[in-house]
Amino acid sequence: MSQQLTDNFGRRIDYLRLSVTDRCDLRCQYCMPKDFKDFAEPGGWLSYEEITRVVMAFARLGLRHLRITGGEPLVRRDLPILVRELAAIPGIEDISLSSNCTRMEKLARPLAEAGVRRLNVSLDSLRPERYREITGGGKLDKVLRGIEAAREAGMAPIKINTVAMAGFNDDEFDELIDYCAPRGYTLRLIETMPVGETGRKALGSYLDLGKVRKRLARSRGLEPAAMPGAGPARYYRIPGSDTTIGFITPISQHFCETCNRVRLSCEGDIFTCLGDEHRYGLIQPLRDGCSDDELLEHVLAAVRTKPERHEFNENQEKVVRFMSMTGG
Ligand code: SAM
Ligand code: SF4
Repeated sequence: MSQQLTDNFGRRIDYLRLSVTDRCDLRCQYCMPKDFKDFAEPGGWLSYEEITRVVMAFARLGLRHLRITGGEPLVRRDLPILVRELAAIPGIEDISLSSNCTRMEKLARPLAEAGVRRLNVSLDSLRPERYREITGGGKLDKVLRGIEAAREAGMAPIKINTVAMAGFNDDEFDELIDYCAPRGYTLRLIETMPVGETGRKALGSYLDLGKVRKRLARSRGLEPAAMPGAGPARYYRIPGSDTTIGFITPISQHFCETCNRVRLSCEGDIFTCLGDEHRYGLIQPLRDGCSDDELLEHVLAAVRTKPERHEFNENQEKVVRFMSMTGG
């Protein structure tokens, strides 16, 4: 490898989040408006062949970690076929998936067999009525069965991602820990981000996770822990157990200086920062028949546009797209 993916601030980029669709079968209140229908048209989606070419270019530049996300990635047809192709790319060490698990019961085995190892699941409540309200109609029992199917199919580790919301689920963190602990799942609490109009509205229920961590440290005793996986969470262990809890704090304690990732949308736009609207389009060069070397140059150029940090605190109006477009 002659060139490496390093941005203008010296950060090594070795993690790509790949959004295979901006569609979703849920409407989480902080993510997408209930009546939202303005999705990308299928003709504008990167095909599986185009996605594979882009990931190959990244892999030639040293990319190792790939996360498939959305929207809800499992709503895109034949996802296991894509996973199998991506898993075969030299250099790709690790394919993980972010899903709401509504469709996981049927797809867990084919996805695991195709190469999905690690799974992150959105789960904000264990109370069916509350879950339905937060997700705009989701059925909790189906999701729990989906997570179980993923575990049986061998996906590990499984991380449960919970957006912490005052007045919605801040009385449930202990229940969530008690759900995760015996199953070997890791609970990760996430601060709400002002991404899109929905994210901004949800800031009304923003919770500073520094305070939540102190509260849980008092009730459960928490000690710092390291976890494998190239993520931004800070992990703590409940003493005397294997149970770890992660805190993702983009607002109260940002982690931009160690950011190692960029995102690719289903329309072929590289977003170099969750907190920035700038995008670098790849669909045109791909459809104009660019060579593999030219594609690689585009990837390098895109990564050089990565900003130093997000401005979620100073400039909350900045990001107008919804989180479902770029996959969190
Ligand atoms: N549909 C999949 C899922 O829910 O896991 C993948 C895409 S979803 C956009 C990825 C993650 O982004 C989820 O864990 C979700 O909770 C999180 N997310 C969405 N909007 C958010 C916001 N405004 N602030 C913080 N996290 C958000
Ligand atoms: Fe869908 Fe995930 Fe957004 Fe919820 S967070 S609406 S499951 S994309």
